[in-house]
Amino acid sequence: ATPTSIMVGSGRGAEKGILFKGGEYLEGTQAIEAVLLDKTGTITEGKPRVTNVMTVSGSEDDFALVAAAEKRSEHPLAEAVMAYATEQDVDVQDPATFEAVSGHGIEASVEGHDVLVGTRKLLMEKGINTEFAEEKLQEFEKEGKTSVLAAIDRELRFVIAIADTVKPTSKAAIEELQEIGIEVYMMTGDNTRTAKAVAREVGISEENVFAEVLPEHKADQVKKLQDAGKKVAMVGDGINDAPALAIADIGMAIGTGTDVAIEAADVTLVGGDLTNISQAVRLSKKTMRNIR
Ligand code: ADP
Ligand code: MG
Repeated sequence: ATPTSIMVGSGRGAEKGILFKGGEYLEGTQAIEAVLLDKTGTITEGKPRVTNVMTVSGSEDDFALVAAAEKRSEHPLAEAVMAYATEQDVDVQDPATFEAVSGHGIEASVEGHDVLVGTRKLLMEKGINTEFAEEKLQEFEKEGKTSVLAAIDRELRFVIAIADTVKPTSKAAIEELQEIGIEVYMMTGDNTRTAKAVAREVGISEENVFAEVLPEHKADQVKKLQDAGKKVAMVGDGINDAPALAIADIGMAIGTGTDVAIEAADVTLVGGDLTNISQAVRLSKKTMRNIR
């Protein structure tokens, strides 16, 4: 491409809130055949909030121990639990010990109690029976809510439902990509049922959903699509997404996301509006036409 057409294209992009880190990415974007979207914070607002807390057994006052266990976690779900505790005027202590279990949840020691918060898998691996919660859990998951379980001293105590709203433009943005012949996929660490419910809401087909993907395996999913012969754009906002953004043919970071994601990506979508993806493709095509 001529330096002039690149300059003009980059300028147009910047006006729309699409920042290309270099001319090669503006050129490369037109070749994209598949777009892999992170769920939380990319398709959704990434501002989860607690909608229901169900006490499975014991006193509901013990929710204070759960909030304390989450106090040192930086996960958005932990922030949602903390916000809820504040709303409910719960007195939240500091945990004595705290450990994050990547992709699954947390374990902490609070006032002499062992507290586990996270996926059913995390609790089951610790030998906790989660059967009593299964029906409720599935009900929340079918509504597209992330459901987290909490156990105290190895006993299942709470089911916490957490909702995150889909961004108003996500559905239209995904449809636009599909209309111009680009395949759209979703990837998340969240539960399969929750992921599929959100996918349905935005028009991504079930077979294009990769759920329960551990942080260290996100890049592998990009590689898998590339190995199938596709040019892949990965779009994400989190620290977890950085390796996938780096390995993708075009990595696109959500501007409102983490610095780590922005650094790993080739393009920044400043406002986080997914309609900027198809606009970037159009801009890239136009730029390439101008040079030929
Ligand atoms: P993602 O960021 O894609 O949603 P993660 O790998 O961060 O996925 O987390 C996967 C799942 O692990 C979450 O959906 C949740 O069920 C559980 N989890 C992770 N961290 C926490 C936490 N601090 N509190 C409760 N649950 C958690
Ligand atoms: Mg995310």
